Amino acid sequence: MAELDVVIIGAGHNGLTCAAYLAMGGLKVKVVERRKVVGGAAVTEEFHPGFRNSVAAYTVSLLNPKVIADLKLADHGLTIVERRAQNFLPAPDGSYLLTGEGRTRDSIAKLSQRDVAAHDAFAGELEAIADVLRKLVLRAPPNIVEGFGLSAVSEGFNALGTANVLRGLSLDDKRMLLDLMTRSAGEMLDERFESDLVKALFGFDAIVGNYASPYTPGSAYVMLHHAFGEVNGRKGVWGHAIGGMGAISRAMAGAARAHGAEIETEAAVREVIVENGRAVGILLDDGRTVRARAVAANVNPKLLYTRLVPADALPDKFLARMKNWRNGSGTLRMNVALSKLPSFTALPGDGNHLTSGIIIAPSLAYMERAYDDARASGWSREPVVEMLIPSLLDDTLAPKGAHVASLFCQHVAPELPAGRSWDDHRDEVADLMIATVDKYAPGFAESVLGRQVLTPLDLEREFGLLGGDIFHGALTLNQLFSARPMLGHADYRAPIKGLYHCGSGAHPGGGVTGAVGHNAAKVILRDQRALFG
Ligand SMILES: Cc1cc2nc3c(=O)[nH]c(=O)nc-3n(C[C@H](O)[C@H](O)[C@H](O)COP(=O)(O)OP(=O)(O)OC[C@H]3O[C@@H](n4cnc5c(N)ncnc54)[C@H](O)[C@@H]3O)c2cc1C
Repeated sequence: MAELDVVIIGAGHNGLTCAAYLAMGGLKVKVVERRKVVGGAAVTEEFHPGFRNSVAAYTVSLLNPKVIADLKLADHGLTIVERRAQNFLPAPDGSYLLTGEGRTRDSIAKLSQRDVAAHDAFAGELEAIADVLRKLVLRAPPNIVEGFGLSAVSEGFNALGTANVLRGLSLDDKRMLLDLMTRSAGEMLDERFESDLVKALFGFDAIVGNYASPYTPGSAYVMLHHAFGEVNGRKGVWGHAIGGMGAISRAMAGAARAHGAEIETEAAVREVIVENGRAVGILLDDGRTVRARAVAANVNPKLLYTRLVPADALPDKFLARMKNWRNGSGTLRMNVALSKLPSFTALPGDGNHLTSGIIIAPSLAYMERAYDDARASGWSREPVVEMLIPSLLDDTLAPKGAHVASLFCQHVAPELPAGRSWDDHRDEVADLMIATVDKYAPGFAESVLGRQVLTPLDLEREFGLLGGDIFHGALTLNQLFSARPMLGHADYRAPIKGLYHCGSGAHPGGGVTGAVGHNAAKVILRDQRALFG
């Protein structure tokens, strides 16, 4: 009989959250992680001598308040602060939009008086739907089951519970929900606003991690996905974890260990061991086996099913579908060490706008062109870049007087056309990203002391994010909610008994939320009797 109750593949923040909840529930848990450090995409590392940064995920909002409270993350060292301004969008003609408490309306008024009221109305509509999403993120979605057994009855109740959440919406809000689930962000924004920068403010959220035009149907959902967060109780705002995103993962690991979970790094899983139709442990790359009564996988579902689970242990049709799981967010991530702060032509000098998410993508047309370019040639002539300078809010990241910036670049092809490799184009494209920022903030390029470049290929190699997909699978309607990762398996249970999904490929999807780990642990704890007898 195995000594361990659950072995978790991957110490991403969701794997760690799952481990903490299971250990709090009295189970004996071990987490095995391929990398040297825990956290997966939520990690802080030194990328240039003396300069540290959140090297992948870089900003907090979606992290669930219940997870923060249950795991007592503050007691384990986590402090989250708000940005002093939310977003700054400079335009080539020297105009700009600056949002954040007390600023948004005045700034919009300078661009379009009409858009002030339209902004308030749209922000209100979005917030009403985001509130519904907040109620759904910590619930397993209704799972579609075959037949009329006990599980059909319990899923019937689950569906009623979900319907009850939706019942609270007015008919107008329900119509808005349908729009947000199915329409393009571009269409919805064009209907409401006249200013390009105001449209771009919302439109950027629709293409973050979403390799699509803002006019692609379904992109409105991605915009909504970026709106359900909060920082320290303030809804819809974004903030920074002191010490970088790794501080979140470290606090989660601290919570898991405090309840007895074991975490081993530099321990890559080669195979899930399946015996008599049950997952009973894992085989590590170094040849060791770890046996457990259940296995939870924090990795991308396509990686799990096409590389770690023996093909003959899976139903053929399930595996065939999984092979077509859509990955690829089309993002390139850079970390740069800076000798000085940038100064933007549109708003020169220091100021709170430099603590915000600085978005270089002044219109929806610009974003669409970036996507079209990337489809045709691998990247865009005028790329979409969001820049954050976290060292302005956190003095633990850079030497005194110097700074670090995160550049999150959208719309590079997950795989380059014509068989070209990212290994041959990394520096060329990184130069273009820096030149793009330099166009809006002359002198920026000169201030770069060092840089780390993560192409989609690097994100896959380094973090196991297939196709560089930051969400473990596109957030398209056919890969969301009851269909994440597949109809019939939205309850965190795999088609193999004793195997569970606890990573972003399950509901509610990607982002540093902790929600998937929370939901998966709940199901495993519920299954205890059946599993552990
Ligand atoms: C560049 C980038 C920017 C992002 N920006 C943000 C942001 O600002 N804010 C936000 O909220 N979200 C952001 N995201 C999304 C968010 O970071 C991810 O969706 C989330 O962190 C995924 O967490 P996870 O625990 O589900 O999986 P992961 O973090 O992917 O963890 C999976 C873990 O499994 C490990 N693993 C893989 N294969 C094996 C194996 N064979 N054996 C053992 N271990 C294995 C990996 O090393 C990894 O540690 C970003 C993501 C990226 C990549």
